[in-house]
Formats: sequence, C-alpha cells, structure tokens
Amino acid sequence: MISERAATPNFQPLIQVLLGLGEFPRTDLRSIVVSATVHAWAEGHASAVGHVLGSDPDRGEFPVPPYPHRDEPALQAILSRAAKEFGPDEAEGAALYAAGLAWAAGRREGADCPGCVLGSADGEVATAMRRGTGRFRFDVDGRA
Ligand SMILES: [Zn+2]
Repeated sequence: MISERAATPNFQPLIQVLLGLGEFPRTDLRSIVVSATVHAWAEGHASAVGHVLGSDPDRGEFPVPPYPHRDEPALQAILSRAAKEFGPDEAEGAALYAAGLAWAAGRREGADCPGCVLGSADGEVATAMRRGTGRFRFDVDGRA
C-alpha cells in the first residue's frame, strides 16, 4: 500500500529514462536494457524521501551510488528477468520493464543512503525535476 509519507517529490518518475530511450545505443537488446536500468536505478535512488544528493565534478560519470554497482545482485536479477520476459525484438518493452524494477530498487537503496554525489545534480532543471517544481511542455508543430 502506498502511504502519503512514501510519496516522492518526483512527480514524473522515469521521465528522463523514457526520454532517453530513443538516444540509447541501438546495438543490441542488452545494451538498451542496461542503459535504461542503471539510469532508472539512479533516478529512483535520488528520489527516495529525505535523500540528500549533491554534485562533485571530480567524481566519475556514473558514481556508485546513486548508480548501482555493476556486481549488485539486485541489478543482475533485474537484467535476468527482463531477458527471460522479452525477446530480441522487444527492446523498448524490456527496457521499460527493467527500468520500473530498477527505479524501485534504487529508491529502496536511496532510503538508507546517508547522502551521495552526482555530477550536475544541483543544476536548475535536475533540481526542479526531483522536487516536482518543473513543468514540461509538449509542442507539436508550434501548437501547445
Ligand atoms: Zn545516495
């Protein structure tokens, strides 16, 4: 059951992952699913209630945490489940399936994290997305 206390300030979870699906390397199913999974994990981690996220330009591109460690058992389990459920022609479905599981796993991890850093995490857009204070506008051929 989802309680009021568990509500995340991120009003559009996974939006960055979904927008990025079209930009992930299209080499094979696994690379698409791995990209979506690790990004969703980091987003879920950063979205945990009360989590503190800062920025440090000296950290690597994918610092651990908020990204999962490559040997994280939960990460490997998610990738295995996606591989069993979807075929090679179902990359988007597999990526979304894995991303949802990874977002939840990352959020659980973030709830126990004393604070971590992520490059550009203090940027205006990133901060607004996490706080749910940003607005997105979809414009089709100049019509809002
Ligand atoms: Zn953290």
